[in-house]
Amino acid sequence: MNAYDSDRMADLLVPIGYEVSQAPDGADMIILNTCHIREKAAEKVYSELGRLAPLKADVIAGHKAPLIAVAGCVAQAEGQQILERAPYVDLVFGPQTYHRLPEMVESVLRTGKRIVDTDFPADDKFDFLPEERSSGDVSRFLTIQEGCDRFCTFCVVPYTRGAEQSRSAQSIAADAKAMVSDGAREITLLGQNVNAWHGDAPSGGEWRLGRLIRHLAEIAGLDRIRYTTSHPSDMDDELISAHGDVPQLMPFLHLPVQSGSDKILAAMNRRHNAKDYRRTIDKLRHHCPEIALSSDFIVGFPGEEDSDFAKTLGLVTEIGFAQSYSFKYSARAGTPAADQGRQVDEDVKNERLAGLQQLLRAQQDSFLQTQLGMTVDVLFEGAGKRRGQVVGRSPFMHPVHVEAPDRLVGSVRSVRIQKCFANSLRGEVQTISAPVSTEHLGPSAEGICA
Ligand code: SAH
Ligand code: SF4
Repeated sequence: MNAYDSDRMADLLVPIGYEVSQAPDGADMIILNTCHIREKAAEKVYSELGRLAPLKADVIAGHKAPLIAVAGCVAQAEGQQILERAPYVDLVFGPQTYHRLPEMVESVLRTGKRIVDTDFPADDKFDFLPEERSSGDVSRFLTIQEGCDRFCTFCVVPYTRGAEQSRSAQSIAADAKAMVSDGAREITLLGQNVNAWHGDAPSGGEWRLGRLIRHLAEIAGLDRIRYTTSHPSDMDDELISAHGDVPQLMPFLHLPVQSGSDKILAAMNRRHNAKDYRRTIDKLRHHCPEIALSSDFIVGFPGEEDSDFAKTLGLVTEIGFAQSYSFKYSARAGTPAADQGRQVDEDVKNERLAGLQQLLRAQQDSFLQTQLGMTVDVLFEGAGKRRGQVVGRSPFMHPVHVEAPDRLVGSVRSVRIQKCFANSLRGEVQTISAPVSTEHLGPSAEGICA
């Protein structure tokens, strides 16, 4: 979502004369769009600011000192403190006020006074955002929901992104159509808790995510739909069944479980237990047997004992994940878990993380191995690392490199997988001689679960 927000900030700044530069040197303004989810992410902001400080001091010939801004969740959580720790910062603003960026920039330039804007304004940010600039990208992000009302006890999101807010189906569909007209073939719907989306339906009433996906699947030229990140308790039957009968919905789902222990899940306030999670996975696999799963895990949550951790390993072994992210619990000020229960020793956290990551890596490797010799549909997104190569993604999110002409970018092709690496695949296009159409290839080009 930060990548999406950064693009929108750039859209907002174009009308007042800015354009995106590739490097901080020589830029008129530098915005750090930040993440506060774990302490490590937040601390990175201060080290990055330290690196930028000299740019403010040694003004490069012919340039004024750049404006330095801190945006995103660290800005929201730390506000004024940032100006105290980094006095050369001009502007601090949170995720819900960036639509005011042009006014803020103009005010700082006019008055020289630094600004901290970390309100949660009542107006809907999306009503104030300009149309997206043309990027021509084949795969795009589209925010449909923001904020979270779930209050998991470890998580800062409800405090930094604010209460859950869903955009209307109509405005989402309008954005999706504009993206497809601009060359997008894949859209990833974004939200902190995306499957909690419940927005106004075009003709009154309210829809949930499964219905929205069916609606978006009618857009001609939109070959692939994904959504992230979901909460297990918000996987309703309509959404689960969409995985079986909407061919554009890719058979890959990131569904964080965090822990396999019911005691820990309760202390995390996840409001589901391990059995509920297994049941949801069974239903998903019933509707879409090919579905590949990904998850997030936290080890060393306060009160986690060896027996709890063993349950996490047990759940991972049972489910089998194609890909995962795992983290050591990081106490975040202001969240209930920060001063709840017995904090787990750092050594124990390190040991558990290493054990879990070993198991997850083995599962990821064996999933990649299953792709060898298979023919999969790849949506080509751009030039590969080497000359003469193009790269795209498989339905399961793996980058796939092939030797093929650039004209394949923007199309879905069948690729036979010949080699697998740690995180990517290499293959050969099976349909290279077929004419490459820039027209919609249609859902039948995917045909994964239908
Ligand atoms: N909305 C998603 C998660 C968003 S945060 C969900 O409900 O699952 C992304 C991931 O960061 C989380 O899934 C969690 O694994 C990790 N995370 C969040 N807070 C954390 C903390 N305090 N310590 C360690 N990991 C954390
Ligand atoms: Fe954070 Fe996700 Fe829980 Fe919301 S559902 S509080 S974003 S972990």
